[in-house]
Formats: sequence, structure tokens, C-alpha cells
Amino acid sequence: MLSRGERFIKSLNDGRSVLLEGERIEGLASHPAFKGTLETITRLFNMLDDPNEKENVGYKLPGRKSYVHNSFLVPYTLEGLQKRSMAFHYWSKETHGMMSRLSDYARSMITGWYAARKELGKLDPHFESKITAYYTEARDQDLFLTTAIVDPQIDRSSGLEDTRVAQRFLHIVRETNDGIILRGAKMIATGAPYTHDFIISSFLEFKPEQAKHAHVLIVPANSRGLHIVCRESFADRRKNDHILSSRYEEMDSVLFFDDVFVPWERVLLHDNAEKVLALRANKTANSLAFHQNIVRYVAKLEFVTGITFAVAEAIGVNEYLHIQEKLGELLIQIDTIKALVIASEVQAKLDESGVLVPELSYIHTARNIGTRFYPRALEILQQIGGGGFVQVPSKFEDFFGVNSNHMHHYFEGKTVSAEKKVQLFKLAWDLIGSPLGSRHELYERFYAGDPVRAYAKQYCESDQTSFTEPIWRLLRESSK
Ligand SMILES: Cc1cc2nc3c(=O)[nH]c(=O)nc-3n(C[C@H](O)[C@H](O)[C@H](O)COP(=O)(O)OP(=O)(O)OC[C@H]3O[C@@H](n4cnc5c(N)ncnc54)[C@H](O)[C@@H]3O)c2cc1C
Repeated sequence: MLSRGERFIKSLNDGRSVLLEGERIEGLASHPAFKGTLETITRLFNMLDDPNEKENVGYKLPGRKSYVHNSFLVPYTLEGLQKRSMAFHYWSKETHGMMSRLSDYARSMITGWYAARKELGKLDPHFESKITAYYTEARDQDLFLTTAIVDPQIDRSSGLEDTRVAQRFLHIVRETNDGIILRGAKMIATGAPYTHDFIISSFLEFKPEQAKHAHVLIVPANSRGLHIVCRESFADRRKNDHILSSRYEEMDSVLFFDDVFVPWERVLLHDNAEKVLALRANKTANSLAFHQNIVRYVAKLEFVTGITFAVAEAIGVNEYLHIQEKLGELLIQIDTIKALVIASEVQAKLDESGVLVPELSYIHTARNIGTRFYPRALEILQQIGGGGFVQVPSKFEDFFGVNSNHMHHYFEGKTVSAEKKVQLFKLAWDLIGSPLGSRHELYERFYAGDPVRAYAKQYCESDQTSFTEPIWRLLRESSK
């Protein structure tokens, strides 16, 4: 019998169109660009059937034998919320926070919409039945999901009044009795080549007359006419030299919709800018999904910190005051995000649907400050490692080649053998200097949206008077 992970891999053989280097990929699982990543995901999926791990990542439905992932758990109590948190923690620990779109984020969005289905049913009379059917299917079939929300970056200064731009944004070209036909593109969908379904929505605030661009849809990856266009692969099969790139390459893709049919049961909302915005702003779904982001982020900061500590020790610089100051800064980063995770959970409140949702304001703060923490953490690692990152042989196997003795002699560190030191610095380079590493820095800056507007939004949506009123009061009192 196939394991859960193997079933996942097999299910990807469904006729989807994945394009890489000008070719359509056949046999995703054996392709060098995806093999290592899919092996990682297989391991994560199998955790749900492992007697030692399934309680950490999953829960059992009444009357069922097998476990489902906790991202599908609707939290009505603190215990439920913490179970969700634990699953995010275990999956991200397992991948050192380096895989951020393992579908637990997108699954949480679906879970949130399902949990708030009665409230959201006010947006559309069919919403409740559609989301219930889809949530149940996604949960029971272990569906891997990802989101594609942003419209293509063509000319951000032009509005949709510019038809040259508008025609390339995703839009409905035709409606039939059975569903809608879509044309246009969406960027970016991480994990797209190996996802089952895309959650398609929009970031833009469309005007009523631009309604043909405003939808929330579930689109199967193997839909006819849908092309998943991959960026260059950063996967590197040299496991000893690129520990991260060999196993954590989450491919990013653009989606081309070439008259793609989507049945009505997968059209959650369509042609309505206001309702799409209301759904996108839904607090239940956003809290549950964004909560995953910040739990995952802790694991990543801990990973960078671990590497940086090890580098500092390995070359004997950890005793210098300014190095200790930087190492302390990394710990402060971790504690800051951890504290915000805890605060969001402890201050969770029941919403209108009776769901215990983590406090969104702390989550927004963690996501926003995180855009600045990660680049700074990498900067600290660079400052501490100096030229050590390039003071390594071309291949780990060089240790066993012609110059073996010299290698062991010259590459030794203060506390570690030459082999271990080279391995460590290669790992660190994979984080700060490889294509995968650079992509991660970009990811942490932008995954939650444009950081500039996200920071500004925190101000715009704040209760500003609660800050300014005491000032005006003080001024009034002092001028009496
Ligand atoms: C590695 C990576 C993976 C991603 N994965 C996913 C994914 O899986 N799913 C998904 O949905 N999205 C994903 N994203 C997309 C992400 O949501 C967007 O990158 C983000 O929302 C910013 O949009 P943009 O990239 O189009 O930048 P733009 O909006 O084009 O911004 C570019 C620059 O222009 C400025 N700018 C643009 N327009 C304005 C304006 N109107 N006012 C002021 N300033 C403006 C911005 O401040 C920024 O400095 C991913 C992004 C990255 C980098």
C-alpha cells in the first residue's frame, strides 16, 4: 500500500501543464528541479500516519481512523488553537522554516472561510454550501493548496482603465450554465507545480466597473488551458554542498489562463469588487492563515541564529563584544516574534461565528517587522562570517581528492574539524549567497504584500485618537 506521501506524489500525474526551460515537464517527481522538494513534502505528509508524530500535526475526525492535518481544525477553544500552532511548528521545524508554502497557509484560509461560512453566506447565497463542500474535500483528500492573488506586474502606475493592462489581468471572458471561462495571468504562486488547487483572488481594490476582474475561485492545477510557468530552478542536487537548495526549493510560478473553465461550484464569488474585498478582509480566515506565517517564521529565525552562532564559534570570534552584541540581536528577534505569537494566541477572541481567532494586530506586527528582521539577520551572518563563506573548496568531495591533506590542514576551525567547518560555511552560503538564499530574502520582504503599504496600513487602521488625545489633554492642562 502506498504511503500518504506517495499517494500525494502519484496524484500529481494528472495532466497538468508545468513549463520549465521551454519544455513541458513530464514526471514531476523524478525531475531534478522538483525531486528533493517532493521528497521533503512526502516526509511531511507521512508524519500524519507516524504513531510518534501524528498527534503533533494532526487530529482524528469522529468515526475515522486516519488523521487529518491540524490546519483544517476549526479552533473553538485555546486548546484547538494551540493544536493548530503546534502543527505549524512541527512542519516548519522539520524544514527549518525554509518552506513557507506547504499548503498549511492556504488550507487555513479555506478553514477560516468554512468556519465563518454563516457570516460570509451573507455575501452570496451559495457561498456556504460551496465552501462546506470544498473544505470537506480538501481536508479528506489531503489536498495541497496554494494561493495566487497578485495581478501581473506590467505597469503599476496605470489603472485598469488602460485596456492593454486590463486584458492581461485575470478576467471572465464568458459565462455558461456550468461555469465561467477565464483568461489572463496571475503572479506569483509558490509551490504551484505540485499543488492540487489554486485559491485565486485579488489584491487590488477594484472599482464596481472593473468587476470582471474581481473573483474568488478554486482552480484545479490540471485545468485545461492553465499553464504553470516556472522561474529558473534553484534546486541543486549536490546535497553536501547545497543542503538547503537540494531539499527546500519551493518553486515560484506565474499562471497563464488560456480560456480555463471553472465550474460554478468552485466559483466562490465573481464579478463583484465589493464582496471580494469583504471576503479578503475576513478576520476569521486572515487570523487563522496569517497565524501560520508567524509560527513558521520563528523556526526560520531560529535556524539562521543557529547557523550564525555555529559560525561565530567555529572561527573563534564569539568572544568579541561586537560579535556578541550581534548574536544577542538575533535572540531578540526570535523572542520578539515568539512573544507576538504567544500574545496573538493568549489574546485570541471568539468571533461572530464562535471561532477562537488569534489577535490579528499582533500577527500584523510580527509579519511587518519580520520583513525587516530577516534581511538584518542575514546581514549579521555575513558580518560575522566575513570571507569565510568563500574560503571553501569547490566541492565537499575535494576533501577526499588529490589535496586531501592540505584541505584538512588549512580549512580547520577553532572548535571544529576542517570537514565540519566547510560543511557549515557551505550551509551558511546556501542561506545568504545561493540563488535559493537570495530568493528567500526577497520572499521574507514581500510574501505578505508590499511592506511599505503594509506598514502604512497599520497606521491608517489604528485608533489614532487614543494616542493623540492624551497629548492634547496634556497641552490643555498645561496651558490652563
Ligand atoms: C518569492 C515570492 C513568493 C511569493 N509567493 C506568493 C504566493 O505564493 N502567492 C501569492 O499570492 N503571492 C505571492 N507572492 C507575491 C507577493 O504577494 C507580492 O510580491 C507582493 O504582494 C508585492 O506585490 P508585487 O510583487 O507585485 O510588487 P509591486 O506591487 O509591483 O511593488 C513594487 C514596488 O513598487 C511600489 N508600488 C507599487 N505600486 C504602488 C502603489 N500603488 N503605491 C505605492 N507604491 C507602490 C511598492 O512599494 C514596491 O516598492 C510572492 C512574492 C515573492 C517575492
